Amino acid sequence: MKSRKIIFIGSGLVGTSSLYSCINRGVASSYGIIDINEKAVMGNVMDFEDAIQPSKLPYEIFKATYKDCKDADIIVITAGASQKAGQTRLAMITQNAAIIENIGKEVKKSGFKGITIIVSNPVDILTYVYQKVTGFDKNKVISSGTNLDTSRLTFELSKKLNVAPQSIQSYVIGEHGDSSVSVFSQTTVGGAPLKYFEDKKLISKSEYSKIHEAMKMKGYNIGMNKGSTFYGIGTCVANICENILNDTKNVLVLGSYLDGQYGTKDVYIGVPCIVGINGIEGIIELKLDAKEKAGFDKSVKFLKEAIKSINY
Ligand code: NAD
Repeated sequence: MKSRKIIFIGSGLVGTSSLYSCINRGVASSYGIIDINEKAVMGNVMDFEDAIQPSKLPYEIFKATYKDCKDADIIVITAGASQKAGQTRLAMITQNAAIIENIGKEVKKSGFKGITIIVSNPVDILTYVYQKVTGFDKNKVISSGTNLDTSRLTFELSKKLNVAPQSIQSYVIGEHGDSSVSVFSQTTVGGAPLKYFEDKKLISKSEYSKIHEAMKMKGYNIGMNKGSTFYGIGTCVANICENILNDTKNVLVLGSYLDGQYGTKDVYIGVPCIVGINGIEGIIELKLDAKEKAGFDKSVKFLKEAIKSINY
C-alpha cells in the first residue's frame, strides 16, 4: 500500500484524540504533529511511539514542521484558542481567524497539494478564511461541519427506535452551532421514512424537537461534565480521513463550499456530500420542507454575516 501521511496542526485534546483514533483504525502510515506548544508535541510524539508495538499496523510519528506538509495527503487543523471568560464571540472569531490565516500561509508555502480538514471553531467560518488565504481547490478544503452533530442525531434516533445508528440516514445540516437543522423530513431508517415508525407508534412528530434539542445540547452537556468534547469529534475526524484515503465515495455530512446548491453561494456549510480521494466529490441537495429550508437559510445568513464581520 502507498504510504499515507497526515499532519495534525494543533495537538490539544481534539488533535490528539483524532490522531489516536486514526492510529487505532490504521488510517495512515505516517503522522506528523505541529503545535506552538513544542514540549507538548514532544510528549505526545513519545507517547504515540509507545503505541507502535501493540498497534495492528506499523506507523511513524514525528514532530513536524510546515515543510513536512509538502507531501502530506491530509492536514487536520485543530489549532485554536478557546473562548476566554469575558471575551466576546466576535473577539474569539477574530483571534482564531488570525491563527488560521497564519497557518494557511505556512501550509501554502510548503507546496502542499492534499486535502485539508478544519475542525477548529467556529469551523465553517475558519474554513472559509483558510480557503481564501490558500486559494486551494474548494473541494479539497473541508470543514468537519455538522459531521459530529449528525452522529449525535442518529444516536438519539437509534435510542428511540432501537435501530443501529449506521442504519439511520438522518442528517444535521447548516452551521455547526446554534442554527443547525435536523432534517427529519428526509430521514430514512432501513429505507423507510419516519412516517412508517410514526404509524407504528414508535415515535411521534412531537418528539422531533426534543431529539433535535438533545443533539444540540450534547456538546454543552459534555462540557458541563468534563470541560470539553474530544473523543466523539476525534473519531469523526478519523472516519473522514479514512473515507478520503480509501476513496470510498460514502456520503458524509461535511462543511462544503456551496456554489449555487441549496439556493446559495460562497459559503462553507454542513450538507451531505460524496467523499473520495479528491475530497468532496459531490453535494447532495436534500428536498427540505418549508421549516427546514427557513432554518437552513437562517444558518447561511448567520455564517455570511459572521464572515463579513471579520472582513472576509
Ligand atoms: P486545546 O486547547 O486542547 O488545543 C488547541 C491546541 O492548539 C493547543 O495545543 C495549542 O497549543 C494549539 N495552538 C494554538 N495556536 C496554534 C498555532 N498558531 N499553531 C499551532 N498550534 C496552535 O483545544 P481542543 O479541545 O483540542 O479544541 C481544538 C479546537 O477544536 C477548538 O477550536 C474547539 O472549539 C474545536 N472543536 C471542534 C469541534 C467540531 O465539531 N468542529 C468539536 C470539538 C472541538
